[in-house]
Parts: sequence; structure tokens; C-alpha cells
Amino acid sequence: MIPVNLPRLGTREKELLGECIDTGWISSEGPFVGEFEQRMAAHVGRDAAIAVSNGTAALDIAVEALGIGPGDEVIMPTFTIISCVHQVVRAGARPVFVDCDAATWNMRVDHVEQKISKRTRAILAVHIYGLPVDMDPLLELARQHGLRVIEDAAEVIGQTYKGRHCGSIGDASTFSFYPNKHITTGEGGMLLTDDPALAERARSKRNLCFQRKQRFVHDELGWNYRMTNMQAALGLAQLERIDATVQRKRAIGRFYNEALAGLPQLRLPLAKTDYAENIYWVYGVVLEDSCPADAAVIMEKLAAEGIGTRPFFWPLHEQPVLRDLGLAGNESFPIAESLARRGFYLPSGLGSDDDDFARVAETVIKVLQ
Ligand SMILES: *Cc1c(COP(=O)(O)O)cnc(C)c1O
Repeated sequence: MIPVNLPRLGTREKELLGECIDTGWISSEGPFVGEFEQRMAAHVGRDAAIAVSNGTAALDIAVEALGIGPGDEVIMPTFTIISCVHQVVRAGARPVFVDCDAATWNMRVDHVEQKISKRTRAILAVHIYGLPVDMDPLLELARQHGLRVIEDAAEVIGQTYKGRHCGSIGDASTFSFYPNKHITTGEGGMLLTDDPALAERARSKRNLCFQRKQRFVHDELGWNYRMTNMQAALGLAQLERIDATVQRKRAIGRFYNEALAGLPQLRLPLAKTDYAENIYWVYGVVLEDSCPADAAVIMEKLAAEGIGTRPFFWPLHEQPVLRDLGLAGNESFPIAESLARRGFYLPSGLGSDDDDFARVAETVIKVLQ
């Protein structure tokens, strides 16, 4: 079986993890956490970084620290992961969805303005599968209407938008360090910002809102969303290799682009836009209308041949939990709906090798023919 993602961990990870064990620093109080935060902030070009326990936690804190609350609206793509709505919904705010572009799979920035109302507080931009959202027009809209921008950069660690690092652009930006992300700490995440007050609030929210003056006295509720020293040890080691990681992911993408070119049943990911070259966080493919089967059928056939795949995101406006809460709306978003049914992604883990990817491509061609 070639798994959809096999992470690559090396001797540097072992060495830094070994230091945690040798010194006994295993909790969030250990020195690697602050060091990882500083190095990530420097890499991305941000003033402050707050390491947390996962990418969903980073989004929760971003929404909470920006003060989004009852009655507020947050505009976001429908084609994204459920993590984006958790705290919006729990805070009593309403997610407002936009469709995505058929070629980039990113939110239609030109559909955002018509969704802005008196209640809109923020736009949550999510860079999808390796290509960034067109941020400049979004930032301009946010400026005109006084909205905050959260940038979910979980899938684009190491990517740039017009030369600026993804994760350096919104009022707050978030990363995930899940094992399929370009830097992994097993589980982990980070919130980055240039706003010192926001950074302070996020730090407090991460750590149960402990007061500085008097420990065990709390003015507000937060979460225990702390990252451990062991996670940060992995992160530091992985960050040292980020440029090589991005190069390797691009090489995997180029290999598939060539190997799968010319299959009439398959739409391949866009290699680049005006503002970025794809880093193929995952290598997504979409079945063309000429293929009678849906993604689920093809994925099952690939699994029978030992090839791991994953379906694309299921759109938020079609999520049972949001329907039950009356938050799904009744609009349809045809591109997201079609991508969800026709799209899936192939193995592209850093721990797999070129022979694996060659076998994947061969098998995909065989199954589709
Ligand atoms: C992975 C991911 C997350 C969630 O990260 P976790 O660390 O799994 O909680 C959030 N947003 C996007 C876009 C992601 O790809």
C-alpha cells in the first residue's frame, strides 16, 4: 500500500527530541517552544508567533482574540475544512459562504463584496491545496469596509503570494503542523500576527487566561491549547529543511503533471497563477465530465490496487451539523459541490519515493482506462 501521506522524519528530529528526554523538558515550559515561535516568525516575516496544540486551535484563538461574537458574520469559502467554522459557530456568529474558482479551487474573491453586510466582521481566507488566495483585492475590500482578515495558511507553509510569505498577510494568520503539512510536529499549530495586543490576547487564550499578577485567578475563559517542547523540537528540525521540502513537493507535482498529462478524464491542478507557483500541498485531481464514475468509485478502485487517496473537502454549506444548526443557508455553490464529488488527491508524502509515485501514476492511468 502506498499511503496518501508518509511523513519524513530525520536524524535532526531524533537529536532534538533526544534533548527533550535528556533534559526532562517535555511540557510547554521547555525552551524549544519559544525558539520555534521566534524562528517561524522570522521565516514568515511576522512580529509574533504563538505555538498551539493544532491548527484548529489556532483558528479558534484567532476568531476569539479578534472578538468575533453573537450576531457577527464571517465570510469564508464553503470549500474548506470544518476547522474554519468551529469557533465562529460556538461564539454565536454566522459563517457566510462563497464558492470557489474551478481552476485554483480557492475562494472567489470577486464574490466576497456582495456578501458583506452590516454584521460582517471578518473575512477568513483559506489557501487551498498549495495555491494562495488572491489576497490583494481581499485586503482592499477589508480596508474599505473595516473588516479583519484571518489567513488560514495551514496548507501553504513555505509558499509566497507576490513574493510575500503566506501567513504574513492577514491581521492574524494560522498554520497547522499535522503530519501531512509541510512542517509537522505530529499535532501542532501556530497563530502569527504583527499586532502586539492581538498577540497578547492569543497567548492568554492559549493558556487558560492565567493572569500575570496572580496565578490561578482568571478574568476570562480560554483553553489549554499549549504546544509541548517535544512538538516544538520536531518543528525546529523540520523548519531547517523547509526550502528543500517545498522544492521536493514541487518536483512531485511536476512529475505527476507530466505522467498524467493528456488523460481526457482527468483535470490536473493548476501549475501556477499570476501570483504564485503551486507547491502541491496535496496533489489533487478532478474527474472530467467524460468520466462516468464519481471520485468515490475511482478511489475504491485505486485502493484495491494499493494506492491510498483522500476525497476533497465536503463543502461547509452541505455539512449536516451546520444544516441542523440552521447555518447552512439555502444557496448552492456549484463549483464546490462538483469538486467535492469529482475531486480526490493522490499520494505525495515526503516519505514516499519516486518509484512509489511512478507506480501511482501507472495505476491511475490503468484504472481510468
Ligand atoms: C490541516 C488544516 C487545518 C487544521 O489543522 P489541524 O492541525 O488538523 O487542526 C485547518 N485549516 C486547513 C486549511 C487545513 O488544511
